[in-house]
Amino acid sequence: MSVKVCKFGGTSMADAGVIAEVKKIIESDEERRFIVVSAPGKRYSGDSKVTDLLYKCHEELKKRKNCKKSFEAVRSRFTDIAGRLNLKLDINAVLDETEERIVKENSEQFTASRGEYLSARIVAEVLGAEFIDAEKVVFFNEDGTFNGERTYREISAAVTGLKKAVFPGFYGVDPEGRVRTFSRGGSDISGAIVARAVHASLYENWTDVSGFLACDPHIVDSPKGIKTLSYKELRELSYMGANVLHSESIFPVRKANIPICIKNTFRPDDEGTTIVPTSRYIPSGNTVTGIAGKKNFTVIFIEKSLMNAEIGFIRRVLSVIEDERVAVEHIPSGIDTMSLLIESDELANYKLERILDGIKYAVEPDIIRVIENIALIATVGHGMSCSVGTSARLFNAIAAADINIKMIDQGSSELNIIVGVKNDDYERCIRAIYQEFFVNRGI
Ligand code: ASP
Repeated sequence: MSVKVCKFGGTSMADAGVIAEVKKIIESDEERRFIVVSAPGKRYSGDSKVTDLLYKCHEELKKRKNCKKSFEAVRSRFTDIAGRLNLKLDINAVLDETEERIVKENSEQFTASRGEYLSARIVAEVLGAEFIDAEKVVFFNEDGTFNGERTYREISAAVTGLKKAVFPGFYGVDPEGRVRTFSRGGSDISGAIVARAVHASLYENWTDVSGFLACDPHIVDSPKGIKTLSYKELRELSYMGANVLHSESIFPVRKANIPICIKNTFRPDDEGTTIVPTSRYIPSGNTVTGIAGKKNFTVIFIEKSLMNAEIGFIRRVLSVIEDERVAVEHIPSGIDTMSLLIESDELANYKLERILDGIKYAVEPDIIRVIENIALIATVGHGMSCSVGTSARLFNAIAAADINIKMIDQGSSELNIIVGVKNDDYERCIRAIYQEFFVNRGI
């Protein structure tokens, strides 16, 4: 029988009512055997996520050597959930132990991980399934990278003979035995890891939306849904801000060709979006699959005559940036010009000033200029690679909206075209592209 791994996100864990729905979803399909859960999320707008409450606990712990006050809010979320679910689990004893260990470990990552730990203890009890602590089976290397080989081996050993098991997402353990977390939203990665380890036929990621939309619904009213995406398209869209799924969560499943299905816990019958390997991708007929973007980039523009002939020019520029430990997102270039696109947040604390001085010293440019408040918009789709005139349509649509394009980048895979515009033009630009590819011509 094939096996499905289901990851339930924060809103699916938010209260006892929705956890009861989660139980129904899991029990309606016997292939849903391995479950990964997040910490309880917001119950209503203005509510707090448990993970955020836990970060506050750590702040209090740093100041006062205990986190009594902030932990109360965490305690009340979990006693409420467990109380309404009529669990046998002595949740107060588990919470006492957790609070004590938070103080003893005195580590932000450990504290942050407890939301997932407590959720998983509860869901395991609700399902009558085994609880497998990620601390025992998910491993990080010394440098903080994920240790796949050891993790897959341990998870596969831990589930042998089990009918059902529940794992907390978001965390694992380092070689010194300290709990550490993935980046925020990292339970998506944990779900993908478990799916790979148990050779799942499908990784279901249950959230509060019915899959990916062609663009941000806060910008375009009721955009079209996307039924199928390839891993590559997903990577482009989620990296550029379509935040249904953590952008790193595809790596474990992609290697094993396991499809991901994004489902809605609150509308379980909706089809959702299925993400498949590019080789199994069936084109939908749409030229463009989706549009996503991010604001707040800074461009460092460099011009120097005969730059193209100067050997080592790009390397010297990039090593200045590397020395500041700053990531460069794109490097569009001309014969005598190059631009470096960097997320503006990365350049705080005088890093920008140091980088400019460093570049001036390293390559003596004729001109070096900084352009701030740039937004990047990616128009993504496999359909673009085989249809002539896509970029013409894209640029005409942007021009018709009277928006000045500051930068263009098209990878040679032709999977996406990225344009840079002023932050202020961001929303209008997305609307113009959506109108062109999804409304006007319908293809
Ligand atoms: N609870 C963690 C967060 O809020 C991880 C997750 O939900 O995936 O980021």
